[in-house]
Amino acid sequence: MKVDVLVLGAGMVGISSAIHLQDRGRSVALVDRRGPAQETSYGNAGLIQSEAVMPYVFPRDPSVVLQALFGLRTDARVRWSALPKIAPFVFAYARAGSVTSARRTALANVPLLARVRAEHEALMDRAEARHHMIDGGYIRVYREARDLEAASKVDEAVRDEFGVEFELWDTKRLAEEEPNLTRPLAGAVHHASPGRVDDPGEVGAAYARLFESGGGTLRNGDARTLNATDGGWRVTTEAGVVEAREVVVALGAWSADVLAPLGVRPPLGVKRGYHLHYRPSGNARLNHLMFDSDNGYVLAPMKRGLRLTSGVEFAHRDDASNFAQINAAETQARTIFPLEERVEETPWRGARPCLPDMLPAIGPVPGKPGLFVNFGHHHLGFTMGPTTGRLLAETMTGETPFTDPAPYRIDRF
Ligand SMILES: Cc1cc2nc3c(=O)[nH]c(=O)nc-3n(C[C@H](O)[C@H](O)[C@H](O)COP(=O)(O)OP(=O)(O)OC[C@H]3O[C@@H](n4cnc5c(N)ncnc54)[C@H](O)[C@@H]3O)c2cc1C
Repeated sequence: MKVDVLVLGAGMVGISSAIHLQDRGRSVALVDRRGPAQETSYGNAGLIQSEAVMPYVFPRDPSVVLQALFGLRTDARVRWSALPKIAPFVFAYARAGSVTSARRTALANVPLLARVRAEHEALMDRAEARHHMIDGGYIRVYREARDLEAASKVDEAVRDEFGVEFELWDTKRLAEEEPNLTRPLAGAVHHASPGRVDDPGEVGAAYARLFESGGGTLRNGDARTLNATDGGWRVTTEAGVVEAREVVVALGAWSADVLAPLGVRPPLGVKRGYHLHYRPSGNARLNHLMFDSDNGYVLAPMKRGLRLTSGVEFAHRDDASNFAQINAAETQARTIFPLEERVEETPWRGARPCLPDMLPAIGPVPGKPGLFVNFGHHHLGFTMGPTTGRLLAETMTGETPFTDPAPYRIDRF
């Protein structure tokens, strides 16, 4: 079959890109080796982080790095055996961690994050998925008063520069808002504006159904079969060959698998993460999605129970799972919230696709006519998918883009 555009990868980013291209009159085939939103876009914490202007930068405190290297932290761990393979990304990430670079990233985040909620809500309305959205924002909790104070100083600076509002909750207010916490904590930072969903995978699947109901084609196939043809591109799917004038690589953590054979080598790394679900004990209820700042995990009330998502594991994308970090997060979570047994035995694992400056790569690949990218959404791919999908589609179809796409060019490295 022939279409105008092939989109490779049916995660939140690829699905959203496909819908925005379709909205602009393009016939689109979306190709994935699995079903829609079954990889990283399935297992995340479901937070639409409109407030997340400041990037997660490489830690500047050497003791934090050492603790991560020796498995002494719950928020970040390093797989020693993976170091030879992941070192180029880790060094590039460390180099990009300067104050200047982080500020550049923050400035580039602003126009994207300003729209993330509205873009999701627009797609949710069209996809009859609005019931998945939950208001109330999220909280970052702190055990120690000095840590809460230090964090609030950072939040104040971000509010002053970027207008990101927040509320500071002391011990008493936090206990009122979350009466089922099992011990008093120093307090929390509450961000009220972010949205969250009760099932990110189902939201992705609903967007994919919207794409299909609009005439889009969803195909199973291996994106690594991509070939350049005379004036276009071709990929082989289970239902035959699909040809197109243009192709979008939106394969998240797998994007380099397709780009490298074409001579395009982005400095893509991964930060892996795990999740598990729990029922709360008795009638206990968690009213907000809760980020435990001391241990880097999230406890998110979802359809299947409380979803515990772990912090960051620096490992090779395809290394075998190591559950030590999610087990440690579970131990910590149990010290502040009453959890029953695990819902599932084996933790889910995902890979956040990361470029060193913690910005995605969006737009054309210079020197490769008809080749476009949309990947590298790090901690914010669920948040940003519908927005960067719009930006890519506007860029590809000659519309005036809603923001200058220059900061996200793939050749910025
Ligand atoms: C524990 C955890 C918690 C997170 N929490 C949040 C959060 O709260 N909010 C947020 O915004 N983000 C969060 N993220 C990040 C977010 O999940 C990712 O940034 C996002 O899912 C990336 O989307 P994507 O579409 O780029 O990639 P993916 O969803 O991974 O999609 C890539 C697709 O490519 C397909 N693919 C790969 N190789 C091939 C091939 N050879 N052929 C065909 N198809 C292929 C895969 O099957 C997959 O469907 C979290 C991530 C983790 C791990």
